[in-house]
Amino acid sequence: MALYVNFDNGFDLTEPITRMCPHCGTHAQLLAVANPSYEVLAQTRPKHAGLLFRCAACNEPRFLRAAVRTISAERVELAPNLVEVERVRERFQYGYLPDTIEQLLRETLDCYSLGAHNAFATMCRRTTRAALRALGATTKTRWQDTLLEMLRVCEVDAVTTSTVDAVLFADDGDPPAVTPDEAAVLVEAVKDLFYQSYVRSEKLRAAMKMRRFFAEEGSGKVTPIDREGWRELA
Ligand SMILES: [Zn+2]
Repeated sequence: MALYVNFDNGFDLTEPITRMCPHCGTHAQLLAVANPSYEVLAQTRPKHAGLLFRCAACNEPRFLRAAVRTISAERVELAPNLVEVERVRERFQYGYLPDTIEQLLRETLDCYSLGAHNAFATMCRRTTRAALRALGATTKTRWQDTLLEMLRVCEVDAVTTSTVDAVLFADDGDPPAVTPDEAAVLVEAVKDLFYQSYVRSEKLRAAMKMRRFFAEEGSGKVTPIDREGWRELA
C-alpha cells in the first residue's frame, strides 16, 4: 500500500484501509477527510504527518499519523504503517469481577491499549497471581491446562506458547520480554481465562438458580444438577 499527498493537495491511497473502530467496535473502512497540504509538507519537511479519516460505519473522526518518506516536485509519499493516535480500548465485562481484581485487570488491559507491551506482560502476571490467590490452589493447574489447550486449538507456535505460559505462570524471575505479536496472543488469553473463571461461571450460576426455581415452582421435582461439574468452573 502507498499513500500520497499530491501537488494539487489530492490524497491518494492505493488500497482501502480498514481498522477496528474504538467508537462503534466495527472493523470498518477509514475514509479520508483531511490531510496537510502539499505546500506545508514541502516547506516544513516534517518527520510525520497527521491525517484525519472518518469511520465508514459510525462516521466518528479517526486520527492517524504517518511518517513522511519522500518529498518530490509531484507529490509527498507517506509510509504505509499508519499509527493510530486514538487507540482501541480493550473491553471486558468488569462488573463480574471482585473490586481488587477489576482494578488490576483494567490497568493490565490499559497497558496493552497504550502499546506498553512489557508493562502489560508484568501486569498480566500480577493480575493472574492476585486472581489465583483468591480462587484457590487448584485453579493454577486448570488455568494452565486451559491456556495450553486454547493456544493449541488456535495453532499458536511453540515459542509464543512458552512465552505466554511463562508470563502468566512462571514462579520466579521477571516476565520474559514480549513482542507485539506475543502481546496480541497474551491479551486474548488473559481475557479468556478471566472470562471463564468470573463471567461465565457467574452467568451459569444465575441460569442454574433460575432453572431450579422454576423446577421447584412447577412439578415440585427438581432436575438434578451435577454440582461438582459446576464447581469446577468457579
Ligand atoms: Zn466506527
